Amino acid sequence: MAETRGAADIIIIGGGIVGCSAAFFLRRRNLSVILLERYLVGQQASGTNFGNVRRQGRHLTQLPLANRSRAIWAQIPSLTGSDVEFMPVGHVRFLWSEEQIAVVEDYARQASHYGLELHILSQREIRERFPFVGPEAVAGSWSPHDGHANPRLVAPAFARAAAKLGAAIHENCAASAIEKTGEDFIVTTPTGQFRAPLVLIASGAWGGGLAEQLAEPVPIEVAGPQMGVTEPAPYFIHPVVGVSTKIPGEVAYLRQIPRGNIIFGGVHRRPAALDERRAKYDPAGLMAQFRQILRLAPTLRHLRLIRTWSGVEGYIGDDRPIMGASEKTSGLYYAFGFCGYGFQLGPGVGDVMAELIATGKTETPIDEYHVNRFTLQPAARLQVSAAH
Ligand SMILES: Cc1cc2nc3c(=O)[nH]c(=O)nc-3n(C[C@H](O)[C@H](O)[C@H](O)COP(=O)(O)OP(=O)(O)OC[C@H]3O[C@@H](n4cnc5c(N)ncnc54)[C@H](O)[C@@H]3O)c2cc1C
Repeated sequence: MAETRGAADIIIIGGGIVGCSAAFFLRRRNLSVILLERYLVGQQASGTNFGNVRRQGRHLTQLPLANRSRAIWAQIPSLTGSDVEFMPVGHVRFLWSEEQIAVVEDYARQASHYGLELHILSQREIRERFPFVGPEAVAGSWSPHDGHANPRLVAPAFARAAAKLGAAIHENCAASAIEKTGEDFIVTTPTGQFRAPLVLIASGAWGGGLAEQLAEPVPIEVAGPQMGVTEPAPYFIHPVVGVSTKIPGEVAYLRQIPRGNIIFGGVHRRPAALDERRAKYDPAGLMAQFRQILRLAPTLRHLRLIRTWSGVEGYIGDDRPIMGASEKTSGLYYAFGFCGYGFQLGPGVGDVMAELIATGKTETPIDEYHVNRFTLQPAARLQVSAAH
């Protein structure tokens, strides 16, 4: 029989921003925590992403969760003792077509009911406020309280803070099997077994495979957004910059850090391989990416590119994550599949999952993310959606 290496109230599988922040908030609610991370915390999507802390443009019903997360972003230094370079410098989206103005005006009106401040700026206003903008922009939408942060710092900051509160963080420790025997789950790793009555699957793009092993398959596609960074230039682009468009090939975004480098992404995602645990950058997309980036800020054409990369992200068919309790196994919880927007949500997801696990309910609505939308019969599923 394999050696039992540890026991706790809950085992978290996955040390990204979701798992690490959940570990932190669960410790604040006095649950004992074991976190298992296959490599090092924050090495996958949470450490390789673009760094956008953006609420503008989210599904409206996701805004309560995004707002809760935004409130935590402002407190990360005091909560964790770490500066994660969060800069609430605002987020502007430029519009290439007059027709899109009505779309963003409608979104702004509806989002205001969820507490999101969003201003529609005329062509003259965007040129005054953002003189770097390209000549094609006809208007802009400005979200003053969004911003950006350094992805490399956030999951490790939460992991260190959770460890200080007593969480056992095991890196280089992959969960290879999860079984429920009696009241407890036994999680097997190459170096021994861990035991707990509760398990949280926070395994990012790999969460789909674990949910399938636990008889709750979800349709998840794995892909890698393409990122790049330029050499430093004088600091002149202060907000995060993006596009509001219905054309996928036009989706592009960039931000500048005070050191001067411009980080950019967008246009197409490329397939990624779960078994390689690494998404390779495909240079074929680079020229298309440059074309869109230069529409946002033409002067960037003078800069040299110094690095490109990608990361592994899980996309669920209906573009919503999986969050909540298992439909089939008591004590089992899920929080994965954040479809390319989980960095902003991460701290809020950790907080909400800790609240749900510790108290059985959460103030922030997450029912629409329940795994049962894929596992219930159609009639039952209809009742669930009718309730919201
Ligand atoms: C290139 C890129 C750009 C993005 N840009 C943005 C952005 O600008 N803004 C935004 O909001 N979101 C963005 N996202 C999405 C965001 O990064 C993710 O949604 C978020 O980081 C997901 O966090 P996570 O903790 O769920 O997953 P991850 O960070 O992937 O963490 C899951 C962890 O689980 C571990 N794991 C998996 N299986 C096991 C196992 N069996 N045992 C132990 N450990 C296991 C993995 O090693 C991994 O560390 C981007 C994503 C990518 C890839």
